Amino acid sequence: MNSSYDVVIVGGAVIGSAVAYFLTANPDFNGSVLVVERDGSYAKASTSLSAASIRTQFSNAINVKISQFGSAFIRDFAETMRVGDDRPDLNFHSGGYLFLAGTAEQEQTLRENHAVQKACGADVVLWDQEALARAFPHLNVDDIRLASYGQSGEGWFNNTGLMYGFRNKARAQGAEFVSDEVVAIGRDGDAVNSVTLKSGAVIAAGTIVNASGPRAALTARMAGLDVPVEPRKRTLFVFDCAKTPEGSASVNQGRLPLMIDPSGVFCRPEGRFFLSGAVPEDDPAVDWDDFEPRWHEFEDMVWPALAHRSAGFEAIKVVNQWAGHYDFNTLDHNLIVGRHPQVRNFVYANGFSGHGLQQGPAAGRGVAELIIYGGYRTLDLSEVGYERIVENRPFLEKAVI
Ligand SMILES: Cc1cc2nc3c(=O)[nH]c(=O)nc-3n(C[C@H](O)[C@H](O)[C@H](O)COP(=O)(O)OP(=O)(O)OC[C@H]3O[C@@H](n4cnc5c(N)ncnc54)[C@H](O)[C@@H]3O)c2cc1C
Repeated sequence: MNSSYDVVIVGGAVIGSAVAYFLTANPDFNGSVLVVERDGSYAKASTSLSAASIRTQFSNAINVKISQFGSAFIRDFAETMRVGDDRPDLNFHSGGYLFLAGTAEQEQTLRENHAVQKACGADVVLWDQEALARAFPHLNVDDIRLASYGQSGEGWFNNTGLMYGFRNKARAQGAEFVSDEVVAIGRDGDAVNSVTLKSGAVIAAGTIVNASGPRAALTARMAGLDVPVEPRKRTLFVFDCAKTPEGSASVNQGRLPLMIDPSGVFCRPEGRFFLSGAVPEDDPAVDWDDFEPRWHEFEDMVWPALAHRSAGFEAIKVVNQWAGHYDFNTLDHNLIVGRHPQVRNFVYANGFSGHGLQQGPAAGRGVAELIIYGGYRTLDLSEVGYERIVENRPFLEKAVI
């Protein structure tokens, strides 16, 4: 490790590694990159604990486009991230998200979102009750007014594979990764200039990128700054099913989708099991080290909703569960990517609010462009910049799970 780097990235999971990759992959960048990661096992990183899924069904065009890039990037990942003979295959499972609307308001939202998605070229269809019953005959559709289904470009994949692919390729391209914790950030007026590590080292930095996930606010505070991101607990349950439901062979070769019930409960196949979870009714910020699963959510929310939706889900048994933290943006549930307007060499890549895995490729590329060119060259991410935080101007994403 040197005593000075052009770019220091605080946090080395999917976002930090993606930024490091896109910087070092760009021939217009000749600088040095250090990624500091406090937990080399990534055991509690949101990246490792996520549901590992990607969708194009969002309410904002920018989020649709971010995921369209993510989807294409994941498709080509093994070749793009190849290091020697190692081709990291993400085992992408093309599953499709199925959003179900039970109320008039939910139906209206699905229709509005669909118009946005179609304008972006997303492969999403709306189904009435009859079409839904034909596509997924196991579902109880009596209380469903409308469904929205992603026919392609959506699915799930290997979450840590995405992170390690970026990380390994970034290292092969010259980025350095160190296991340590950033405990202080030096600032002189309108510029940050160094990080202090727990081991005692002080490293000079030209630019500092905040890629600290749910700890983003702690990192920002070290620089005397802020970001409205807090850890919100999400518990995932893997269950076995006595009688596994089947899809219709005419839809995606009979593969079941990632279904989002009107109640907010979701489930998708996970190998021979199913992965499920719910949006908690009570959703406070939690301690950064509190990873105790909320066991009761399965009995109280997940199972009743699923048993109502499909007879196949009446007899199910939990085989695994864990809790992770959403990097929750309390202003508008949307990513915050961009420079601080005054402290311009402090760059945020935070607040992904449950979408950061799929948004990793676009966010990493965007941050790299900001650092190298001072502006975006491909997808313009200005709408999700930090300015809206200062101006208290929410850019709300409605399709949050
Ligand atoms: C249960 C759950 C389900 C999810 N499902 C999906 C999904 O299906 N699809 C999707 O796209 N997204 C999903 N997400 C969201 C996604 O996982 C996150 O948005 C994304 O992983 C954020 O990546 P990150 O690198 O910013 O944060 P993290 O993965 O949390 O990584 C941040 C890293 O920074 C390190 N760090 C923090 N502070 C410091 C410091 N001071 N010094 C050094 N290192 C530091 C941490 O140790 C950590 O490794 C889900 C999240 C959860 C919790």
